[in-house]
Amino acid sequence: MRCLACGKLLRARDSVINGYGPVCYQNIFGKDLKEKKREKDSERLQLPGQISMEEMLLGRK
Ligand SMILES: [Zn+2]
Repeated sequence: MRCLACGKLLRARDSVINGYGPVCYQNIFGKDLKEKKREKDSERLQLPGQISMEEMLLGRK
């Protein structure tokens, strides 16, 4: 996998997943890879329409 912006070989797993090296990613999106990762984690916790475990247990009437 190579960086989509500069063609540099990507070695870090996060960079490969995103398709850009950390420097190019920051240039393009204005934030670093770790910041994006953190956003993803919080998105996963509060996904709209997602049924929580509690709702699954209590909501089946
Ligand atoms: Zn690059």
